[in-house]
This record gives sequence, structure tokens and C-alpha cells, in this order.
Amino acid sequence: MMKEFLREDLRSIKPYQPGKEIHTLKLDANESPYPVPLEIRAQLATELLNGNDYQRYPDTNADRLRDALARQLQVERDNILIGNGSDELLHIITTAFAGKWDKVLCPSPGFGMVRYYARLAGAIPIDYPLDDDFQYSLSEIETAIMDHQPKILHICTPNNPAGSVMPVPEIAAIARQFDGVVVVDEAYYEFHGESMLPMINLYPNVVILRTFSKAMGMAGLRVGYLVCSKSLADEIYKVKPPYNVNSFSQRAAELMLEHREIQEERVRKIVQARQWLYQALAGLRGVDPYPSHANFILIKVQNAAKVYQGLLEKGILVRHFEGNPVLEDHLRITIGRGEDNKYILHSLAEILTKMEDW
Ligand code: PMP
Repeated sequence: MMKEFLREDLRSIKPYQPGKEIHTLKLDANESPYPVPLEIRAQLATELLNGNDYQRYPDTNADRLRDALARQLQVERDNILIGNGSDELLHIITTAFAGKWDKVLCPSPGFGMVRYYARLAGAIPIDYPLDDDFQYSLSEIETAIMDHQPKILHICTPNNPAGSVMPVPEIAAIARQFDGVVVVDEAYYEFHGESMLPMINLYPNVVILRTFSKAMGMAGLRVGYLVCSKSLADEIYKVKPPYNVNSFSQRAAELMLEHREIQEERVRKIVQARQWLYQALAGLRGVDPYPSHANFILIKVQNAAKVYQGLLEKGILVRHFEGNPVLEDHLRITIGRGEDNKYILHSLAEILTKMEDW
């Protein structure tokens, strides 16, 4: 038997593995269906050809990008920290605020990585449930806080995968009572538009997480950011790896902010398409869509595994939550372009009709 070197408490973890099945339409990871705008790619290419400083380390704190974000968000540069995707920031925050045997409260259903980073920190992830319609329940959170005295409370709004949101006054009420760090993951903020960010300096224990991967359509370049009080940011900086975001991606994110109107127009299209797809899905027999404030829709459908396979046979990859009892018989569909949404709708209808015939 080979000796195992991995920490004993991590041996049951399965390495993260995104869907690899062959497909022509990728609707499984809540990415943007639109490529990075041509003007941004052209500008990046010009800068690349005219010389670059790639022999140098990047700006470790991404000051130019933080300044651009600070102007847009009307906060100070020191309220912001840039990460290699918001995923890295979740890792950094968890390491900073939770240690061995500490409790970390995570919504269920919710974004799986928060549990994973809690375990890496040696902490104990504890699920708190959303209600039967996958809406946040203030009383469930309050009870979980009382029962477990966690160091971190995760709230994901809009929630991935449910698409539900937690109203800002409710988050604020919890943040006031809670003697720990509240992480508000707003990866899908742009598709909803409500945020606690303007109140950030009133809540020194709240961290807001955002990303360039979803509405800003830059998932491949890995840039995320957090916004919090300066006192909390100073603490988090102690845990941030140096040079964590490469110079090319920092520059791409700056350009993306300069051309924000292109993405804002795309977000409007996706929100319209989401409304259209929700109505259409609600009209399909055997499908129960959950109202969504993000760029995806979660559906409840009998025999989700079969429907998932049926869609794959038509070249469509969606998210199936195999092995997750809370999401049994659920699939999550990322909103695509108009023709993509029509294609998935017709494909679903066809698969379900066939299944009824069996
Ligand atoms: N938070 C949530 C809720 C997400 O859905 C995702 C991506 N699936 C992330 C964070 C991480 O995104 P990224 O690392 O690309 O910024």
C-alpha cells in the first residue's frame, strides 16, 4: 500500500471536477454566452505587441484596478481586495477567519466551494437550510447562529443554485447581531441589482464578494474582488498571497470597466431572456422552475438524471447535482442567447414527452 501523505481529515475530499461531457451548448457553469468584446481584445493585443512588463511581477495589490473599482463603487481603494476569481477570495477569507474546529455556516442549497474551503481550513462546515421554496429564512439562520456560534456566516445572494435572494435589511439585521464575519457572495449581483455594498462602512463584519466571471463575461481570466470595511480588509490582506492576480488579467478587468456599457446591455438581454425562459419552462408539464434573480434557472423535474442524459444527447450540457440529496431531481440551466434558450426549451419538451410515452 502506498503511504498517504495528505492530511487525514482531507482524504475523503473529491477533487473538483467540472462537467467534461461532450457538448455543443454549454449551459452548466453560469458563464456569459458572449465573448469578451472585440474592442477590449484588440486593445489587449495592441498592448501585448507594443511591449509589456511580463518579465516583472504584477502589481501585488492591483492598485489601478482597485482605483477604477473604487470610483465605480464609490468606496475607497482600501475597501477593496482583488482575487484570482472570487473563488480564491473565498479561500482567503475562510483561512483568515476560521481555524481548526471552528464552525462555518453555509446555505443549503448553496455554492459548494464554501464547504470545501472550510474543510481545508480544518473548520467544520454546517449547513443551514433554505425553506421549501429555496428562499432564505431569517429564523433558520438565527437558530443556526445560536446553536453553533460560527466564526463565519455565508450568504449567497442571488443564491447559486436556487436564484433566490436575501433582502438587504435582513442581512443588515443579522450582521448587527452576529459576532463573526458575514460573507455576502454577490457573484450574480448584476442580474439582480440590490446590494449591501453602499452600507459597507456601517457593518465592519461584512464582506461583499463580486466577480468578473459572470455578468462581466471574463471567467477564463480569473478576476474577483471583495469590498469590506478597511479594518477587515487590513486583516484579510495578511492572508492574501502576493502577486495573486496576473498582470494581463488585471489589465483586462480595467478595460472591461472602461467598456462597462457593453456588458450592461448584455445583462439586460440576459435578464429579459431569463424572464422569457422562466415563463416558458413554467408552461411545460413536469417542470417546476424556481424564480431566479441570476443568470440561470433551477428546475425541478422527475428523473433529472435521465433528462440530463437526454439533453446531453442533444449536445446540451446543464448542471446536474448528482449525489446531493437536497437537489435530487433538480437541474440548473444557465441562460444563453435567444436561440440557445429556444433550443433547450424545445429539447426539454421533446425529452419529457418521450418519457411520458414510456
Ligand atoms: N460564488 C458563486 C456563488 C459562484 O457561483 C461562483 C462561480 N460558480 C463563484 C463564487 C466563483 O466564481 P469566480 O471564482 O469565477 O469568481
